[in-house]
Amino acid sequence: MEAAKDRVVVMEYSLKDDKGNLIDSSEGQGPLAFIQGLGHIIPGLERIIEGKKAGDKFEAIIAAKDGYGEYNPQMIQKIPKSQFQDGEKLEEGMQFEVETEWGPALLTVTEIEGEEVTVDGNHPLAGVGLHFDIEIVEVREATEEELAHGHVHGKGGHQH
Ligand code: ZN
Repeated sequence: MEAAKDRVVVMEYSLKDDKGNLIDSSEGQGPLAFIQGLGHIIPGLERIIEGKKAGDKFEAIIAAKDGYGEYNPQMIQKIPKSQFQDGEKLEEGMQFEVETEWGPALLTVTEIEGEEVTVDGNHPLAGVGLHFDIEIVEVREATEEELAHGHVHGKGGHQH
């Protein structure tokens, strides 16, 4: 069976950046299961997986724009410390999830200078070319229940 919209794809993967640093891997945590065609994985990768079958092993090289997006300098902002709930406890490297008009975004504190806090709203992998090594473990039809819930049940998915 080939990977196509509304089918469950189970895969082992490792992800490196364009400099060869390991970012993430299914090794040790078990394969990842998702429903193809629902945008659960980055768009560039979903396109490459379309049509693949169990046992297929391949590399996928995804440009930043098809991955976590280009790095956008406008998403760096300076905010007064007084606007944070616990302004005095802020440290560089801290991350917060905030609601924006485009949905939830992760803000990273990149610099604290006196009363001024610099935050970066870019995804930590924005601007990074992605290099996946993938092995498709299984492709199957999603059950009606999985499609209704919008996620995979069982191994590699939700356990409920
Ligand atoms: Zn469910």
